Amino acid sequence: MTETIIKCESCKEVIENAEDYAQYGSLSGKTLCESCYNSDSENASTITRFSGVVNETPEQVIFGEHTCYSGTIEEIYDSEAPQWFLDLFNNEFKGRNWVRSDAWRGYFDTTKNMTGVVELESGWMTGDYSDVPHKQSSHTFLNRLSKGYTLPPKPLYVLFEPTSNVFSTATTYLTKAEDAQEIKTWIKNQVDLHSALS
Ligand SMILES: [Zn+2]
Repeated sequence: MTETIIKCESCKEVIENAEDYAQYGSLSGKTLCESCYNSDSENASTITRFSGVVNETPEQVIFGEHTCYSGTIEEIYDSEAPQWFLDLFNNEFKGRNWVRSDAWRGYFDTTKNMTGVVELESGWMTGDYSDVPHKQSSHTFLNRLSKGYTLPPKPLYVLFEPTSNVFSTATTYLTKAEDAQEIKTWIKNQVDLHSALS
């Protein structure tokens, strides 16, 4: 009798007792060992979709290279990617985009792997912004969007990605190319995103 050997897509090691321990990456469709599966979800990026529709809770996807969890900003309940997420990647997720700035440092810039989107602004947000008061306006704006106090005229996407500095998150505001002009006009009256993220 021959046993099927199953290898982890990420570390390429043979998964012992694969029938019990192999994990399935719902985003990549690949098989992972437990340890790679866990580190993929721990080091995830998050994208939030503010639809602009009244009383619609913003949706959210937390994703790595292989795995994803989705739902709303209030509750994550699914392990599959919603269609709006796949649409940003032209229906085929090609993984994230790690930009290495030197041997030890870097950040994700996954927008580069998307199709048909326009980056409105991108920069850095820190968990504690008391030392950088101008960054507070981005937090305040996100808070107002999340609570529905302000509604974009077309869907607005905000992407948060890990960097090698655990205190800093790469933050990018995105829109579909066809909605970019309308969103840009609207956002100007909401917040000075450029100074908020620089
Ligand atoms: Zn592995």
